[in-house]
Amino acid sequence: MADTFDEECDFLFKAVLIGDSGVGKSNLLSRFAKDEFRLDSKPTIGVEFAYRNIKVGDKLIKAQIWDTAGQERFRAITSSYYRGASGAVLVYDITMRSSYENVRKWLLELREFGGEEMVVVLVGNKCDLDQSREVEKEEGKGYAETEGLCFMETSALKNLNVEEVFLQMITRIYHMTRQKNLA
Ligand code: GDP
Repeated sequence: MADTFDEECDFLFKAVLIGDSGVGKSNLLSRFAKDEFRLDSKPTIGVEFAYRNIKVGDKLIKAQIWDTAGQERFRAITSSYYRGASGAVLVYDITMRSSYENVRKWLLELREFGGEEMVVVLVGNKCDLDQSREVEKEEGKGYAETEGLCFMETSALKNLNVEEVFLQMITRIYHMTRQKNLA
């Protein structure tokens, strides 16, 4: 897939977006995509993905980020969605408690299909809707700490922390890969 793109890169990473339907995954991705992204869709497997090139130090990283395109609604995510992924953005909606309660289930699935070494960022989205909040920030943060995940609250609507989430994940993946290559 990557070789259809013109620019040479030093690393290519795959990352996935996961979480309940309606938490804001597609909006987070399109926010991050802006105009620099190329948004492709693969309707046959019900997945969309976008690429973005990012510089970390003097290295050019091509991040390929997959979105479920609504398949999670039908419990139709298959192991191929996770295959080869080095990172994941696991999203819940701070105004929908059930989406937070399902984070455990998504994390189990991520670890089962993606492996233990995946870099996972837990994201509480829709933080612009603080008046309807059903999950406290400290709760999400505390859970992320116990599971060894990164954590951020975001608003895709207001474009808060969206860039930071993806950049943090990609930078971490890069450093982990470099360490492994040096070992
Ligand atoms: P997905 O099913 O997880 O991909 O969720 P979508 O990206 O389709 O978003 C579901 C709904 O939540 C849509 O109506 C979005 O407009 C809304 N939404 C997504 N992100 C935000 C956000 O940060 N704040 C608010 N207020 N609404 C959001």
